[in-house]
Amino acid sequence: MADNHSAQQRHTNMAAIHSKDTKPELVVRRFLWSRGFRYRLNHPRLPGRPDIVLRKYKTCIFVNGCFWHGHKVHLSQDGEQMPTVEYSACCKIPKTNRDFWTKKIQRNQARDREVLHKLAFMGWRTITIWECELTPARRESTLESLAYTLNKMFLQDISTTHYDMTEEAPPTAAEAAASYHADPHRTEHSAE
Ligand SMILES: [Zn+2]
Repeated sequence: MADNHSAQQRHTNMAAIHSKDTKPELVVRRFLWSRGFRYRLNHPRLPGRPDIVLRKYKTCIFVNGCFWHGHKVHLSQDGEQMPTVEYSACCKIPKTNRDFWTKKIQRNQARDREVLHKLAFMGWRTITIWECELTPARRESTLESLAYTLNKMFLQDISTTHYDMTEEAPPTAAEAAASYHADPHRTEHSAE
């Protein structure tokens, strides 16, 4: 009986722990941390204050709510007219106050695009993870592919650097020897 109780208690505690921090951003953070990726949060000096910044990978991650950021929402607009919803696969835009929501989503989409442009211009890569990609059914594959992408990019960076270095012809043995002897510190030391 006592064992049952403690098992039950443990289960309750675990459930509490898991339910408390299921905000999409925290799911991503916890995963990255557990895999050894180190990051900064909401970097104030970067456009859009990215949710997660991985300097070593030159990558900013945004974890976006599907509704506010208009995931798979296509709007069309004729001049000054209100934008109309052509397509919204991921979220329902309320019928009530529809103009208000449509305008808001349109503004957010425009701002997101601008932020991604600015970051790209500054040499940052950006990854957007959508809330719907983090539902329990899709979470694991989303996070695994995130880790895969980050590692792949890191390896590419290393190989690019390596390639750049080999573009410069290495000094010939004679040149290397000449610079060795021309080094005044070397001469001083050998004279001592
Ligand atoms: Zn979505």
